[in-house]
Amino acid sequence: MPSKSRIVAEVDFEKNGRQQGFLRLFHSVHSSAYGFIPLPIVVLKNGDGPTALLVSGTHGDEYEGQVALSNLVKSLDPARIHGRVIILPAANYPAAMAGLRTSPIDQGNLNRLFPGDANGTVTQQIAYYIEEELIPMADIVCDLHSGGSSLMYVPSALYGGWERGGSEKALAALKAFGAPVAYVSAAGPGGNLTLSGGAARKGVIALGTEAGGSGHVTRAALRMVERGVNNVLVHQGILPDSARIVPDGPTRFLEVGGPDYFVYAPDSGLFEPLVELGEMVRAGQPAARMHWPETPWAEPVTAHFAHDGFVLCKRMPGRATRGDCLFHLGTDVEV
Ligand code: CA
Repeated sequence: MPSKSRIVAEVDFEKNGRQQGFLRLFHSVHSSAYGFIPLPIVVLKNGDGPTALLVSGTHGDEYEGQVALSNLVKSLDPARIHGRVIILPAANYPAAMAGLRTSPIDQGNLNRLFPGDANGTVTQQIAYYIEEELIPMADIVCDLHSGGSSLMYVPSALYGGWERGGSEKALAALKAFGAPVAYVSAAGPGGNLTLSGGAARKGVIALGTEAGGSGHVTRAALRMVERGVNNVLVHQGILPDSARIVPDGPTRFLEVGGPDYFVYAPDSGLFEPLVELGEMVRAGQPAARMHWPETPWAEPVTAHFAHDGFVLCKRMPGRATRGDCLFHLGTDVEV
């Protein structure tokens, strides 16, 4: 018998109209014995119909989705929708407020802690609430990520259920998103410990984004996220067809295959990239050199690509430690 979440919602998910408030995550600490951590949540509902759950701030230093959903909270009129939209813009609220990937309270990486624990740490309790309370209400989940502080992506949408043969419904929603680049993958580095892993356990389709990253927001990334979320709401029948925003062009579909799509720092030092985002590379091609300016005469160590492909993701900070991801690739695929 699973435990019940200890988080208390200030909003009523069944009520029509707009509601906004907080999920109260009680957290007893020295400075606040009976206090709660306030996770903002907005529910827009108009009659019976499909439900979309829109999430950002799963990683607190990924800002594109947080900005897009903050805009959407103000612009979406509940009278215009059919069904329900649940918006959780700062899912790992302590991490989002700190501008960090992980929670400053328990160091929890929310996207590695699903299915969570009703009686666990703060971040485990958030994961549990999302998986057991929010996802089961949804017909589709959009979890809006980017590369965070350490990585930059070619702004893209994604679907991570490819290893299960792919869901036609999820792929149709990914096409409707209308991103310039979209990729499909087997479960990524987070495996089934992610929010999309939680959606899969509940039989709910989940899309994501890797909107950009590098700890900042670009207009192009924001436009991609805002247009994509809008178009997914149209695709689900929550917004009318007339609300669809026509994409700039067709979507290029990529697959992120196995571990050989990733390049890691072969040693610790200064990272010299030898290619850039959006380039096509070949297996065996040099990807990066590691330097030691403290011993500048030392020969650099070179990392190579192990696969042909499109450079989808690149590390941003110049200093890298052995094992850091420097690049990952995608390869063109028919979906
Ligand atoms: Ca992320």
